[in-house]
Amino acid sequence: MKKFTCIILMLLLWLPGCSGDQPGASSEVLITDVILIDGTGSDPQVGVDIRIADGRIAEIGPDLSAASGSETIDGSGKYVIPGLIDAHVHMDAPIVFQLTPEEKTRVVENNPRAFLYNGVTTVLNVSSDVDWIFEQRQAEREGRLLSPRLYVMGRSFTPVDGWGSRHGGALADADAAVARAQDYISRGTDGFKVIIEDGLGASGTYMRMSEDMMMAISRIAWENDVPIYTHAINLDEFHSAVAMSSTAIVHGLEDPIPPGDTILQDMVENNVMFVPTHSLWEAFLRHDEAAADLNDPILRGSVPHFLLDYMQDPEYRAEETRRFLAVADMPVYQWAEDKIPIFSENILKAHQAGVIVATGTDAGGPVGFNFQGYNLPWEVKLFVQAGMTPMEALVAATRNGAMVIGVEDQLGTVEAGKLADLLILSDDPLDDIENIRKIETVVYKGKAYPRSEFAYQPTETGE
Ligand SMILES: [Zn+2]
Repeated sequence: MKKFTCIILMLLLWLPGCSGDQPGASSEVLITDVILIDGTGSDPQVGVDIRIADGRIAEIGPDLSAASGSETIDGSGKYVIPGLIDAHVHMDAPIVFQLTPEEKTRVVENNPRAFLYNGVTTVLNVSSDVDWIFEQRQAEREGRLLSPRLYVMGRSFTPVDGWGSRHGGALADADAAVARAQDYISRGTDGFKVIIEDGLGASGTYMRMSEDMMMAISRIAWENDVPIYTHAINLDEFHSAVAMSSTAIVHGLEDPIPPGDTILQDMVENNVMFVPTHSLWEAFLRHDEAAADLNDPILRGSVPHFLLDYMQDPEYRAEETRRFLAVADMPVYQWAEDKIPIFSENILKAHQAGVIVATGTDAGGPVGFNFQGYNLPWEVKLFVQAGMTPMEALVAATRNGAMVIGVEDQLGTVEAGKLADLLILSDDPLDDIENIRKIETVVYKGKAYPRSEFAYQPTETGE
């Protein structure tokens, strides 16, 4: 917002503050004597203070002084990392198939808190109901909705009978794709999500997007400087994703990379980033062992309890399995079992080749245990299990996520001048990456919240 317009609006509306994208965040916070892991990959800074003012990180250094009236948090012995970024979510996805509309509403309404509770302060929402998701973004930006920062883009581009066409809005031809793109551009879209997968594995269950349609989308994206987030799974589709100038590929690579294949170098040279959604494949089969059969207190702070009760019922789970098999239309569980080691290996290969790799979960899609918010720390842990160091995995979950969204000048690291989204942890995440679940305080848009403030509140009936 221009400063002048802002002042006029303040006078007209008697707004308490006018810091543009920081509604309500005018107070100062001083966090003292922390160990700062800033998200750039540099060594931790020990014993520093962080001063936050007007929603931004004003200053980092030893012995900073607090302005009068500011909130001071004693951070001695604690660790600060940037707020986490999930670069592949669906805020309106219900996690399971079998909910009533009322139950679905309860899950969806809880999702923003579920992310914040798990330290996820920014998300890239790559497909949702169009009107709804743009309104959610507006509400978040105006301070009407307490939610992670939302970057959104309406429904995926997919051809008639393509993957994801069950959500509606499948495209008949390239002209239809261009018309869709123009509509989204007029809404200020943060990207285009393009599905070129034709079904998991070599199934060919779904219609693959034509070259024609891909290139039409690529052209209009390039002309309007809109990022393309591509849903691809196999090697051939990965090459197509590079050819259409994708900003990022937002799923893993299921094929081993044969000797002589240049996909990773092509991704580096063309600045195509990688969001492998590894916890998604794992979630077909299992949940993070931290969830301990869905009784982990942090999981119960993240998800409505009635849903966890359903998921613990073997009959309910069997029906979920049946419905997922019907949607995938191929032996998806065996496929995941076979492919998970390859997916994992490709994360490390991409990272070692110099591809920017970022965390995303595909949260909410009904595949098994695909929890919003809760699964992002799991994704980070899986990166470490794939062979990254905890520091590299943390950078993937913070700065790299910001790069995928194109907001790395504002978000993703804890540096003076950046927007103030950060987490205070009780234990060292570099010592054990599981410690990113040990969140004490979430500083979001410059305001400090005890984590418990975002916990799921059971209803009177205990759900
Ligand atoms: Zn998705």
